[in-house]
Amino acid sequence: MHQKKHWTIEDATNLYGIDKWGAGYFAVDDSGDVVITPLGEKNGVQISLHAIAKGIEERGLSMPVLLRIENILGSQIKRLHDTFNKVIDEIGYQGSYKGVFPIKVNQQEQVVEAVCEFGRQYNHGLEAGSKSELIAAISMLNNRQACIICNGYKDEEFIDLGLYATKMGLKCFFVLEMPGELELILERAKAIGAKPLLGVRIKLSSKAEGQWADSGGESSVFGLTMGQVIDVIDYLKQEKKLDCLKLQHYHIGSQIPNIQDIRTGVIEACRIYEELIKEGAEMGYLDLGGGLAVDYDGSKTNYHSSRNYSVEEYCYDIVETIASAMDKCGIAHPTIITESGRYTVAYYSVLLFNVLDVTSITPHPIPPELPKTTYDLLDNLLETYNMVSVKTVQECYNDALFYKSQAQQLFKHGNISLRERAMAEDLIRHILIKISTVAQDLEYKPEEIRQIEALISDIYYGNFSLFQSLPDVWAIDQLFPVTPIHRLHEAPTRNAIIADITCDSDGKIDMFPAFPQAKKTILLHDLKNDEEYYLGVFLVGAYQETLGDLHNLFGDTNVVTIHIQEDGSYDFIRELEGDSVGDVLSYVEYDVNAIKQRMKNFAEDAIRQGFIKVKERTTILKCFHEGLRGYTYFEKE
Ligand SMILES: *Cc1c(COP(=O)(O)O)cnc(C)c1O
Repeated sequence: MHQKKHWTIEDATNLYGIDKWGAGYFAVDDSGDVVITPLGEKNGVQISLHAIAKGIEERGLSMPVLLRIENILGSQIKRLHDTFNKVIDEIGYQGSYKGVFPIKVNQQEQVVEAVCEFGRQYNHGLEAGSKSELIAAISMLNNRQACIICNGYKDEEFIDLGLYATKMGLKCFFVLEMPGELELILERAKAIGAKPLLGVRIKLSSKAEGQWADSGGESSVFGLTMGQVIDVIDYLKQEKKLDCLKLQHYHIGSQIPNIQDIRTGVIEACRIYEELIKEGAEMGYLDLGGGLAVDYDGSKTNYHSSRNYSVEEYCYDIVETIASAMDKCGIAHPTIITESGRYTVAYYSVLLFNVLDVTSITPHPIPPELPKTTYDLLDNLLETYNMVSVKTVQECYNDALFYKSQAQQLFKHGNISLRERAMAEDLIRHILIKISTVAQDLEYKPEEIRQIEALISDIYYGNFSLFQSLPDVWAIDQLFPVTPIHRLHEAPTRNAIIADITCDSDGKIDMFPAFPQAKKTILLHDLKNDEEYYLGVFLVGAYQETLGDLHNLFGDTNVVTIHIQEDGSYDFIRELEGDSVGDVLSYVEYDVNAIKQRMKNFAEDAIRQGFIKVKERTTILKCFHEGLRGYTYFEKE
């Protein structure tokens, strides 16, 4: 095996880009473990993820595990507020900043609870888009200084819930998504005896590039057109309730990679805010929605998995733009609200899993003498193999493709045997491997040649389900950073893609952050016989958990939350067992007791028919019951 000389920790850090996407929360220690550096790299405290994974298994929980590092959540909320507040001070902005966490980004009770806890000192609030989320928000927030922002379509029940929250002193804003909501809100407010806090969601003409481009712009399905805004104002005037209108909201998309789009949105929003004041509304709050992006690939570009700005620039551009727009027309600086979800929670969760197996496509060695066949296929392949050089890369690649289809045709028509076909495929692989090696010296690699890497890579089978734990990889080609969490002092030698255990052909990770361009493969280490190999997928705290589904009936993973102390010790503060087989079956409406009963009956029948003995029935049923209680993923004995 080819081992690079002088492989260093720095090489590993660069290869996996840990210092680029890690936002200062992750690093590699001298023993080659990925470590969490929750207080920043300089502060010394380093916790090995490998040690945590072991600790989790010693506590009886199997991989895969979603690990939450609470300190990182606290730190992200702090970064957001500290940065806004620093900029507000510097510029002399007269309003304040209030963040809210959109519950849809991660609705898990433990997450919302932690957001409320860490956010309390900053009066960080919550955003709700449905009745369920609103009930969660009202019950969790317990802070009258913080805001609850209600987006989404509202029926009478939704409205009543919000009005009762207002009555109890919570700052609960109804953001109007449709003109029709207004009449019902005013009617219910009168009946309940509460004064509603109202906002309007504006359909800006500004759009943002990226995956969620259609959330903004005139074609967006959400928000009021300018005509509808005028209708709202006129209706409020007529009902003498214009003083209820306090907030203007917009959201032009999540993960906005380009700062220019953020700036354009704010400028347009400020103009509308000015007009609402001129119409006589009191206002006071400007809500810019979400969009603050996470640099998943660490490239600092406007690629859709990245962002071309820092949080400082984001805050500075927003505060500065609003200040100068308001000063120009003599309007008091509004309270700035952002609904940053992704930025708040993405960093704090890591998916940990073990590798179950590796399929290597290493071909058999080329035999000294090729068998005699009636066709010259094998000889042609060998000739092509010998011809591969920097100058003939493309030609040889074309030939390999041609012979590949020829081999399939000859086999189909019974002209070559299975052994001959296998040998042809081995030779084709040898050609591709040689092309890929030779092509490393090419200055410009055609896309086809770059694709070869994925064709000749090993497949590492990970103990996880992509559909359950990383749905955005499947749905929108989201890039997430992946690294081994240990052995980084050893040079990784195997080019691989990662498959999950759903056996779905889409259940794979075959795009990885790399510089300057994302790569189809990742370098991993050889498996050792006596040691588990663990990988981590990072930055998975936003959107993945609830969007995940039960494909192949793999359920929720185990979840463990840790809190790291200043002295470097850490506590497992929460453990949540993942779904059992019985749980997931009941999610798809199976009745677990009925399953057991049917199994008993069938086993009884097997005795009657003479297939098994009574004693065997007991053993079989026991195995069955344990299976229902077991974890849906691969469990070690
Ligand atoms: C999804 C959503 C957000 C969250 O956006 P992020 O980019 O995750 O910060 C905020 N506001 C609204 C209205 C949303 O729909």
